[in-house]
Amino acid sequence: MAIEFDTIAAISTPPGEGGIGIVRISGDEALDIADRVYQLGSKELKNQKSHTLHYGHVVNPKTNEQIDEVMVSIMRAPKTYTREDVVEINTHGGIVSVNKVLETVLHNGARLAEPGEFTKRAFLNGRIDLSQAEAVMDVIRAKTDKAMHMAVTQLDGNLSRLIRNLREDILSTLAQVEVNIDYPEYDDVEEMTSKLLVEKAVLVKAQVEALLETASQGKILREGLATAIIGRPNVGKSSLLNMLLKEEKAIVTEVAGTTRDVIEEYISVKGVPLRLIDTAGIRETEDIVERIGVERSRKALGDADLVLLVFNQNEPLTTEDRLLIEATDEHHRIVILNKIDLDNQLDLDELNTLVDPKSIVHTSIVTQEGLTELEGKIADLFFAGNTGEKDATYVSNIRHIALLHETIDAFDDVIEGIETGMPVDLVQIDMTRAWDLLGEITGDSVQDELITQLFSQFCLGK
Ligand code: GDP
Ligand code: ZN
Repeated sequence: MAIEFDTIAAISTPPGEGGIGIVRISGDEALDIADRVYQLGSKELKNQKSHTLHYGHVVNPKTNEQIDEVMVSIMRAPKTYTREDVVEINTHGGIVSVNKVLETVLHNGARLAEPGEFTKRAFLNGRIDLSQAEAVMDVIRAKTDKAMHMAVTQLDGNLSRLIRNLREDILSTLAQVEVNIDYPEYDDVEEMTSKLLVEKAVLVKAQVEALLETASQGKILREGLATAIIGRPNVGKSSLLNMLLKEEKAIVTEVAGTTRDVIEEYISVKGVPLRLIDTAGIRETEDIVERIGVERSRKALGDADLVLLVFNQNEPLTTEDRLLIEATDEHHRIVILNKIDLDNQLDLDELNTLVDPKSIVHTSIVTQEGLTELEGKIADLFFAGNTGEKDATYVSNIRHIALLHETIDAFDDVIEGIETGMPVDLVQIDMTRAWDLLGEITGDSVQDELITQLFSQFCLGK
C-alpha cells in the first residue's frame, strides 16, 4: 500500500566547508526532475538502470547556464532509503554550488524537504520503524563511539525486536483470554483466565523493568556524563584535562545556545563518554572556584553527574579544599591527589575521614602515574564493570523511557484488577493498553501529530 507523496529535495550533507555536497531528491518525479536539470549529451537518466552512477552537468534549463560538474546516482524504488525513487546529485564546488543545484532542482518541480522528511517517508513507507528512525537521529548526533554504537544497534532493530517479542507475548495471552471468554465451557474458566492475565503481566513487567534499568546508562552513553573538574588554582586541573583530551581524542562540538555558542568537549574514558562542563574556565587557568567563589560553584556543580575533585598532595589541605569537599559531597566524586612525584604534605588520615577512601586516586601528570587507575575508577563508577556488553540493548530515548513507565503502570493495573476481583473483560482493557503503549515505541500504534513532531527534530536533509 504505497502512500502518495510529492517529490522532495534537500541538501543531505552537513552544512559547512567540505569538498562534496549531495542534493537528494525523493519521490515519483525524482527522475523526471533530475532529467530537466541534468545534461550529458542526449542521455536521459530515466532510461538508465537502477543503482547506477552518471557523470554530467547540472544546467539551468531556462538560461542554459552551467551550474556544476556532478555525479548523479539514481536508485529506483523500492530498494532506497525512502522506498521511493531517489536521485542523489553529488556536487563538488563547495557550498555555493550545492545551494545553486538545490535551487535549480526546486525550480523544476521538487519541494524543499522538511527536517527529517526523508526518514519520515522511510517510516511511513514501512522501511524502518519509529525507534529506528529515532536511531537515525541519534547517529547524526552521536558524540562518542559508544553513543554511535548504541544508536547503530538500535537502528539495526535490537530494541524493536525486543519490544515486538514482548508485544507478541501479550497478544497471545489476550487471544487466549478472548477464547476463554467466548467459550466458557468450563466452570473455572474465569479463574483460569485471571491466572493467565496476572502471570503474563508479572512476567512482561519484569522484562520491561529490566529494560528500564539500562536507561540511566543509556542516557549517559547518549549524552555523555556531565563531568566537572574542580579544585583550587594550580593543583593541576588544566594539566589533567589536557592529558585526558590528548590521550582520548577529544571530540569538540559546537552547540548553538540561545544567547551564545558554547563549546562542549567530549572525551571517552574506557567507553564512558564524558561531557566536560565549563572547560573554558579551566583552560584560562581561571577555574569555576576562582571566578565565582565556592558558594556559586556549588550551584554550577548542580548539573554534574561526576565531579573530579583535584588536590595538590604537595600541600596541606586548606579551608578552601574542605569547602570543596563539602560542596561536592552529594555528587559521584573521584578525589584526585595530584603531583605524587613531589613530597607528600597532605594529611591522608584526615582526608580519609572526609571522603570515601575508595574514591581516592593518586596521580602525577608529570610521570603519568595513576592515570590508568583514574580511568578505571570512572568506568567502574557507572558500569560496575559491565562495559564489555557491546551489543546490549539500552534504552536512552526519553520518549521510550516514559512509555515503558506507563506500560509498567498498565501491568500494575492488571495485577491489581485481578487481585481485587475485577471482571476479566475490564482487566483485559488494561492489558491491551500495555500492548498499545509498547507499540508506540516502535510506531506500530502511534498518532499522526506525534510523528510530525518527532520528525521535525531531525536535521534538514535526513
Ligand atoms: P590548575 O590551575 O589547577 O589548572 O593547574 P595547572 O594544570 O595549570 O597546573 C599548575 C602547575 O602545576 C603547572 O606548572 C603544572 O605543570 C604543574 N603540575 C600539574 N600536574 C603536576 C604533577 O603531577 N606534578 C608536578 N610536579 N607538577 C604538576
Ligand atoms: Zn588551570
